[in-house]
Amino acid sequence: MEDTAPEFHQDEGELQKIFDSVRDKHYPELNCLELQYVFRMKEKMHEGQLVYGSAEKISPRDRDLYGYDARVCIHKESWDDLNRSGKRKLAFHELMHFRLTPEDKAMPADEHNVKKDKAGRICYTLRPHDFSLMRFTEELEKFGLSDTEEYVRLELNRIHELHQEKKDKKKSTKTKKSKTDKSKRPTGGKKKKSKK
Ligand SMILES: [Zn+2]
Repeated sequence: MEDTAPEFHQDEGELQKIFDSVRDKHYPELNCLELQYVFRMKEKMHEGQLVYGSAEKISPRDRDLYGYDARVCIHKESWDDLNRSGKRKLAFHELMHFRLTPEDKAMPADEHNVKKDKAGRICYTLRPHDFSLMRFTEELEKFGLSDTEEYVRLELNRIHELHQEKKDKKKSTKTKKSKTDKSKRPTGGKKKKSKK
């Protein structure tokens, strides 16, 4: 028998609760956008990876008709599998995609400094990801890293060390034995495969 269940469901408050909390904390400027939250029931793959969620624009006509400015779509099963901090991390990611267009470009955009179109709709763009390699291991092995990839490597190392420092700090305050000054290796690139 053919499966004819709807592919999308309107959120009944579950997504909104977490997203609102993350938005209030990290992106208060986005409060002027009316966001619609929906669940995607089907799996969607991109470049061989499961897509957890997406941040989407809504057409000008639908913005006027339905009152939402933008949409966040989350894969239901992935959402259900995440713990609270994983859900907050996903919300942080999706909300990062929305970028208000400032009226005065010299100042950061917020509800008072945001460009509006002729119909009074708030202008925003979708910020692309900072890291997107799309390379094969064999290709990188053969040709090495390009300037962009070298930049990504340095950034990842910097972020890795930043978190390592945080972890070390936590450890030393826990055990209260911070006597020795650990010398750190500058390149701590662990070979660990990650899904995201
Ligand atoms: Zn994204």
